Amino acid sequence: MPVEVDVAIIGAGVVGLAIAAEVAQGGKGVFVFEKNETFGLETSSRNSEVIHDGIYYPQDSLKTKLCIEGSQLLYELCAGKGIDYRRLGKIIVAVDEGEVIELEELYRQGCRNGVEDLRLLSREELRRLEPEVGGIAALMSPSSGVLDCHSLMRFFYTQARERGAGFVFNTEITGIERVGTGYRVEISDREGISSIDAGIIINSAGLNSDKIAELAGIDPEQADYRLHYCKGEYFSFNSRRGQLVSRLIYPVPEEAGKGIHVTVTLDGRMRLGPNARYVEEIDYQVDEARKTSFYESVKRFLPLIELEDLEPEFAGIRPKLQGPGEGFRDFVVAHEEAKGFPGLINLIGIESPGLTAAPAIARYVGEMVKGLQ
Ligand SMILES: Cc1cc2nc3c(=O)[nH]c(=O)nc-3n(C[C@H](O)[C@H](O)[C@H](O)COP(=O)(O)OP(=O)(O)OC[C@H]3O[C@@H](n4cnc5c(N)ncnc54)[C@H](O)[C@@H]3O)c2cc1C
Repeated sequence: MPVEVDVAIIGAGVVGLAIAAEVAQGGKGVFVFEKNETFGLETSSRNSEVIHDGIYYPQDSLKTKLCIEGSQLLYELCAGKGIDYRRLGKIIVAVDEGEVIELEELYRQGCRNGVEDLRLLSREELRRLEPEVGGIAALMSPSSGVLDCHSLMRFFYTQARERGAGFVFNTEITGIERVGTGYRVEISDREGISSIDAGIIINSAGLNSDKIAELAGIDPEQADYRLHYCKGEYFSFNSRRGQLVSRLIYPVPEEAGKGIHVTVTLDGRMRLGPNARYVEEIDYQVDEARKTSFYESVKRFLPLIELEDLEPEFAGIRPKLQGPGEGFRDFVVAHEEAKGFPGLINLIGIESPGLTAAPAIARYVGEMVKGLQ
């Protein structure tokens, strides 16, 4: 007979880890299955580590709600649990009149979303705060910051284990079958193929989450769950002139991403990126040939930057529901009872601001799980 567990969580990225810590405190037997040798080796360690403010998305979206809630929870967690973070503040810069109109719309969107500390800046105010940044107007968001994502993941991992959750690494989920009131989950590890029975499945498999839904029997095309991979590359800024900015500096957002921006890492280095380009395969190489386009994008608002200051650093892949040229898509965080899969909770399209939202997503899923008892 297969081993029985109450809750099987697929994927130990920041979202799966946060959910494990949340759900395990309810006394349920929780197991997390992760195909890699440890937690957080995919998108959760390949991002900007920015604590976002929630201004970019429609007011009634999960992205807005969970980002704003998650940001507050993250700051509390980081301060209370010794996780390294800095509330640096973010400035979004407009370099021409057309962008000023977009900036003002972003300001109104942020206000509608309930972000209370936003402020429009004049050219002079911008220059006073960030003398090296060139722009004719800007939007200041004091509550944006950066954090050490690995420490955050270690915190959730330790907390989940202390609350009784088990972690099974080097183990890939390869099949899901409805059996009785629960699911038989096929797992593949070094020893071969075996299975466990789970009452509840939480699919937080990041870039594979559409495929996990498909394994369970949901047609991703029909459900509109098919993911598109959208690569984001980063270049580091290495110059003897040192750091040129002290806050996070963003352009006005573009279609598939927030635009190539400048972040300041926790150790005080400047990093440029990510860009956004749709790809077919998961491949984390940074294409050095893109250096010029990074340089040109950032030079618009940071004129002192030089091409030779940039070095390829790393890349991540966004699990996007929004395909090229398509409109906004929200996070899917869904108990799939209406589709005929009671006890299956899918998290699909958890791209940015998924890191910021992680603790709030965990609470949201925790409530769903309570409702299943
Ligand atoms: C370039 C880039 C920049 C970003 N910047 C930010 C930012 O600044 N701020 C922010 O809030 N968000 C940001 N994000 C988004 C954020 O990184 C993600 O939303 C978050 O990391 C998603 O976490 P996750 O746990 O859902 O996914 P992942 O970290 O991808 O974890 C999923 C896990 O599932 C495992 N898995 C998959 N299939 C299986 C299987 N069959 N069996 C077992 N295990 C499986 C994988 O191995 C993986 O470990 C960024 C994303 C990218 C790509």
